[in-house]
Parts: sequence; structure tokens; C-alpha cells
Amino acid sequence: MTLANDKIFHGLQYLTADNIHSPEVCAIFTTRNGGVSGLTPGTGHFRSMNLKINSKREDESNVAQNFRIMALSQGFSADDVVGLWQKHTDKVIAVDDALAETRPHYKLGEADALVTNIKGVLLSVSIADCVPILLYDEVNGAIGAVHAGWRGTLAQIGTKAVQHMSKLYGSNPADIKAAIGAAIGVCCYEVGVDFYEQFRSVYGVAIDRFFILNRGTKPYCNLTAMNKSFLVDAGVPAQSIDMAGLCTMCNPGLFYSHRRSGDMRGAMAAFIGMK
Ligand SMILES: [Zn+2]
Repeated sequence: MTLANDKIFHGLQYLTADNIHSPEVCAIFTTRNGGVSGLTPGTGHFRSMNLKINSKREDESNVAQNFRIMALSQGFSADDVVGLWQKHTDKVIAVDDALAETRPHYKLGEADALVTNIKGVLLSVSIADCVPILLYDEVNGAIGAVHAGWRGTLAQIGTKAVQHMSKLYGSNPADIKAAIGAAIGVCCYEVGVDFYEQFRSVYGVAIDRFFILNRGTKPYCNLTAMNKSFLVDAGVPAQSIDMAGLCTMCNPGLFYSHRRSGDMRGAMAAFIGMK
């Protein structure tokens, strides 16, 4: 994973998933830098590449312009974007020809993952601490974008996206390359004991390796490592999974963080699209 400084759009920074990203495929995770938000007094918390639709007290034209900048920087148009009403579900929506024709569509449905095999569709998920996952099957020409919060992780939404790609496009998980972008790290992700117990009741003692249980009174959860492990269990080779390894809460200059800022924040996005 590389932090790229865009050569054309001044100040634009994003993480490229180097194991997927190529002239034929865009696979990137945005940072908060390079957009037009947060320039007016009182809106600094949106600075600057805010990609959150319906942000409170944000000018929607700024968000639209930010989507335009991001899409253009990747050789796409903002009219290619498909996004979701993210609800912390384990639901996957497949973008077929009929749905693709409705784009740009920033709120395609209530779900937390998108898959498609159609070129020119730029899949997008919104992120501000939760785990973004991009998936690519070069053999069958199929892609996926996943938003995995803790509920989605508990329900293994990443696995479900892989299964959808297998069922719909014939993807062999062994051929799938994955990238996991910046999310809240185990350094900062303090959780409740009831949270830990929910994972424990589903996965048993094996889940303990993704928690720190002896730092203070509350557990800390390693959500990115858990998502990687579930992908490996689903058949994606560990060496085919690229990890950003950056914490959204620890890096305020690069990322928005819900845990750090509450609702007074923008959101990043993860994008994947075949040209
Ligand atoms: Zn941290």
C-alpha cells in the first residue's frame, strides 16, 4: 500500500492498493486531503476531501465536487460512482447491467458491500474508522467493495462478498486479491466487555487473538486483523491481502475518525473500478 501524492490534483493524497491498482483497475482508499470542503469558517472539521453524502452542516456541492475530483484523478467520471445506504448489515448488492444503468447512484440500497463484473462502474464505500475492504478477481474480471464495521465483521460481510463473487462470477477465492485500508487500530479501539462477549459467543476462544484483554479495564479489538483472518478462512491467500496498517484515530492529518470527532467530521471512501 502506497500513500500517493497526485501529480495533477495538487494536495490530493490517497492510498493505492498496489496489489490490485493498475492502468486497468483503480483500487484506492482516500485520505481527507485534496478536496474543497472545510474552507469556510466553522467547517474546518470537514477539511478537505469529505466524501460523506448528507453531512450535517456541509455544503453538498462541496461533496459533489470532491467525488468529481476523486473520480477524475482515477480516469473515471463522477457519473460512474455507485454507493450505498450503509447500515452495518451483512448484505451484499450485485451491480448488474440494469443497476449499472442507474448510475451515478450514491445510495443504491441498504447494504454494506457491492460486487460487479461490469467495467466502468466505480464501486464506493464510505469510511471513518470502520474497515474498508477491496476485492479483485483478475481471472474473471470481478470486483468488490466492503464496509465492515464491528457488526459487519461479526457477521463476516467480507466472506459474504467473496461468496457472492464466487456464485455470480465464478471467482475462485484463491485468485482473489484483497486490500484492507486504514481503520481504527487496536491502539485506539477500546470496546465494551459485552462487545467482546458477542464475538466470543460466536467464535469461541479462537477470537481472543484479535483482542487485547490486559490493557486497562476494557478490551481493545483488532478489527483489521480479524477481517484479514476471515478472508483467509474464506480462501483468499494471506499473501494476496495488502494491509494499510494505519489507524484513522492516530492520524488526524490524514483521516477522519468517528471515534475522535463524533458527527463533527467528514468521511473517506474506498473506490474500486475496472476500466
Ligand atoms: Zn490508533
